Amino acid sequence: MTSKVLVSACLLGQPVRYDGQAKPVHHPFLETLQQRNLIIPFCPECAGGLPTPRPAAEIQPDGSVKTQRGGDVSAQFQLGAELALKLCQQNAIQFAILKESSPSCGSNWIYDGNFSAVKIAGKGLTAKLLSQHGIKVFSEENLQQLMLEMNLMK
Ligand code: SF4
Repeated sequence: MTSKVLVSACLLGQPVRYDGQAKPVHHPFLETLQQRNLIIPFCPECAGGLPTPRPAAEIQPDGSVKTQRGGDVSAQFQLGAELALKLCQQNAIQFAILKESSPSCGSNWIYDGNFSAVKIAGKGLTAKLLSQHGIKVFSEENLQQLMLEMNLMK
């Protein structure tokens, strides 16, 4: 049986981002996954109890997650990551497609914590936790790679 794929809800057009917007991605591979009913949409920040819209938050050098005004949302981000992992484990999910650069979903890049639009190498809390548990995390920027791994487009 082919594994289902956990996908950031905002990439599927759900308006769940901090600014109340979506970031829909239109890619034939995503459409194939949808047609085969292989997608499980998830937003860790919403699942962790944060409202939409919500203040933007960034990972700080000490690992906490804070809004620009200093509000500590680490617990909500951590809960969202744990719920994402639980969902993956319940569904035997091996792959995830998560929105790049998000403090939850970023798999290669995050913002530097200063709210200055500067990106640094790093992972969001959910991407990190899933990776630590053997789930292969991809972003909307490397769908081609996942497509080859899943071998679904032949
Ligand atoms: Fe999208 Fe992830 Fe941010 Fe939710 S937490 S809005 S799924 S990037």
